[in-house]
Amino acid sequence: MPPIQDFIRRLPKAELHLHLEGTILPSTLVELSARHDARPITLLEAQSLYQFADFTGFLDAFKAVTARLLTPADYELAAWRMMQRLAAQGVVHAEVFIAVGVVYHWRKHDPNCFEAIFDALERARLRAARELGLSLYWIFDAVRHFSVEEAGRVFLKAAELRANHPSIVAIGLGGDERRAGSEPFRALYAQARAAGLRLTNHAGETTGPEAIREALSIGSERIGHALSAIEDSALLQELKDGKVPLELNPTSNVRTGVCPSFAVHPLRRYFDLGLLVTLNSDDPAFFNSDLANEYLLAHTEQGFTRDELRQLAANSLRASFLPEAGKTAWLARLDSTQ
Ligand SMILES: [Zn+2]
Repeated sequence: MPPIQDFIRRLPKAELHLHLEGTILPSTLVELSARHDARPITLLEAQSLYQFADFTGFLDAFKAVTARLLTPADYELAAWRMMQRLAAQGVVHAEVFIAVGVVYHWRKHDPNCFEAIFDALERARLRAARELGLSLYWIFDAVRHFSVEEAGRVFLKAAELRANHPSIVAIGLGGDERRAGSEPFRALYAQARAAGLRLTNHAGETTGPEAIREALSIGSERIGHALSAIEDSALLQELKDGKVPLELNPTSNVRTGVCPSFAVHPLRRYFDLGLLVTLNSDDPAFFNSDLANEYLLAHTEQGFTRDELRQLAANSLRASFLPEAGKTAWLARLDSTQ
């Protein structure tokens, strides 16, 4: 392995913006299809599904994958494979979105449909802690363009299960920002916070900076994507002053067509301005990338030096929802990584 890639792998780092469903490789999709489809899809068909050209095509592909995640065993398989790949990249802690909103939507809102799936996810998580030394938290993600009522069910389930499962750390809103912003979810975010959940939000991926302001105004603690913040210098200052963690996903933005190339992604400008930026892979299987590759591209496309890559890794640990003692321990190990 070339020295820079080896260095990146050795950096203890956190991944904070990663969708479980987006980690399912075409080969795993074929396996899931063989379990469930009357005519299972071929590897070629699975691969062509991932060849979308824009954001709408991406959402369609995402839907096709989640449609084949049916049983608790399917989820356990997907989760375990994801965790193995995270550990192999030197990720020591991950905070992973589960599209709970999609599960409810497709199971006609049976309020008890998620428990068995969650038990399976927890089995994978505990195995990864034991066998891979990987720490992992879950973020329950609702789909903003379904309805406020459906998001309410997701956040309520997060609060309910959290009593026995402290691994459920936060809630989030994904889906199509062009069809729903953040304002309608204000009361739900306040309730989730009162229940002890942390608040994340996708904002400014396919929409302008006003969507990021709206997300901040309902109490979102971390902003996913924040691509359009670059258009608003007052907002950039606000994000800097508030030390708001930004979960950036450059390759994702390039592949969904909202950013022309990695080289021009605002990652570099945000970093130089002193914003609390973190690098993430979002849906690595869909974008043919992973976290280690995002660090490598930051180096090759935007000239991030080893010290700057180390700073990105430090940001990821600081912006995580780990307890302070956990952050301090990993940061100390990061300092001694050469
Ligand atoms: Zn995302």
